[in-house]
Amino acid sequence: MESQKVVIDVKGLNKWYDDFHVLKNIDLQVRKGERIVICGPSGSGKSTLIRCMNRLEHHQEGTIIVDGTELTGNLKGLEKIRKEVGMVFQNFNLFPHMTVLENLTLAPVWVRKMPKKEAEKIAMHYLDRVRIAEQAKKYPGQLSGGQQQRVAIARALCMSPNILLFDEPTSALDPEMIKEVLDVMIELAEENMTMVCVTHEMGFARTVADRVIFMDYGEIVEQNSPEEFFSNPQYDRTKLFLSQIL
Ligand code: ADP
Ligand code: MG
Repeated sequence: MESQKVVIDVKGLNKWYDDFHVLKNIDLQVRKGERIVICGPSGSGKSTLIRCMNRLEHHQEGTIIVDGTELTGNLKGLEKIRKEVGMVFQNFNLFPHMTVLENLTLAPVWVRKMPKKEAEKIAMHYLDRVRIAEQAKKYPGQLSGGQQQRVAIARALCMSPNILLFDEPTSALDPEMIKEVLDVMIELAEENMTMVCVTHEMGFARTVADRVIFMDYGEIVEQNSPEEFFSNPQYDRTKLFLSQIL
């Protein structure tokens, strides 16, 4: 892993919402093929941090460089980043008035200028991979939460991203659907996708993560290998958090 190039480089990141200091002096490097899990209490800034990584949020201080492009107000850079960084949200964020297939072909056709037929072929390939090809003509509202989230993952994959960001992808799901989504994520990890996952699925963290990062009050408090993180947490705040979720 050490020899792989850094694909996300966050240095001295500070962000405020008005006068609320939401991210404090964040330094974080993610290498190609690395799988990072970010955990921490609600409100600690996890979503804000990963949303900064594809500039769904802007920051006031520090630098974020993704695949060689610094994230600034520059629109050209933004377009490049949106093609390369896929994101999967807690609430799926599918377009409700479009079929599953249309959800998947929208960005490839409009952003990547791909012919519709080709986009549909690729979409069917990824729907098949997340084991949901038979639902292609349905609308999101006709699917279960677990199915919708797998559609959302397939939609992200249709843009051939180099990096995937996940923001609590299973926390809106009923327990019986969590596994079907985690299984898809584990397969992606096995194929060496670079992944940054905000999740409290500690089983997933143990099996898949190269590194677990713990955030509290807008800071990275501690980061370690899953083995060390779970068996030997260094700080009281981490111990308290782990005692509450494990
Ligand atoms: P987490 O994902 O760890 O639960 P968030 O990044 O969503 O935390 O939020 C961190 C803090 O920032 C919370 O206190 C939240 O209320 C606040 N916050 C999040 N988004 C906004 C916003 N758009 N405007 C103002 N405050 C926000
Ligand atoms: Mg969040």
